[in-house]
Amino acid sequence: TPFNTLPLPPALLDNLSAIGYHKMTEIQRQSLPLLLAGRDLIARAKTGSGKTAAFGIGLLLQLDPARYSPQSLVLCPTRELATQVAQELRRLARFLPNIKILTLSGGTPIGPQIGSLEHGAHVIVGTPGRIRDHLRKQTLKLDHIRTLVLDEADRMLDMGFRDEIRQIAAETPAGRQTLLFSATYPDEIQRLSGDFQRDPAQVIL
Ligand code: AMP
Repeated sequence: TPFNTLPLPPALLDNLSAIGYHKMTEIQRQSLPLLLAGRDLIARAKTGSGKTAAFGIGLLLQLDPARYSPQSLVLCPTRELATQVAQELRRLARFLPNIKILTLSGGTPIGPQIGSLEHGAHVIVGTPGRIRDHLRKQTLKLDHIRTLVLDEADRMLDMGFRDEIRQIAAETPAGRQTLLFSATYPDEIQRLSGDFQRDPAQVIL
């Protein structure tokens, strides 16, 4: 199914063609209509499915470019995944002028990250430990978050990030949209969903 069967802005459709995305992948076909309708979503999908573009298109369409405060937060289990996700979001965001996407991962010095945050960012992609550190230092504020994404949520739980995810989610507005992606579906994922999502639509690939 081509992307132009969805009510997407022409500039986004042009950009998708420009980066070689012509047809939707299965996860995109099933999840984008739900995301555009503002639903919370729990999706079982692996890396390689096109899940990043699915939640990426959803969250980019929620942004107010004129407001330089974090409006989307994507939590990833590893620095490598956070870097990949940010790269893909930047490609997708080319149709929007002046959107700033910032990566906040552990294993790199925190000082330059604080400097970047002071310049303002629309989208934050990062690992739970480092995001929690910024919240403690009050160098990051989450009170304008509209979309919270838990990417590879099963891996984040395996890595022991449960408390960090809880603390981070607690600082985002209750009315946010919450998207949960996971390759596996253990009971713990259902519980996480129950704690943070409202009437989530399910997409199982
Ligand atoms: P992901 O599952 O998000 O890691 O994406 C896997 C790969 O698929 C990435 O290299 C994307 O650039 C690519 N991709 C995502 N959506 C599409 C699409 N609709 N058409 C072609 N390639 C895509």
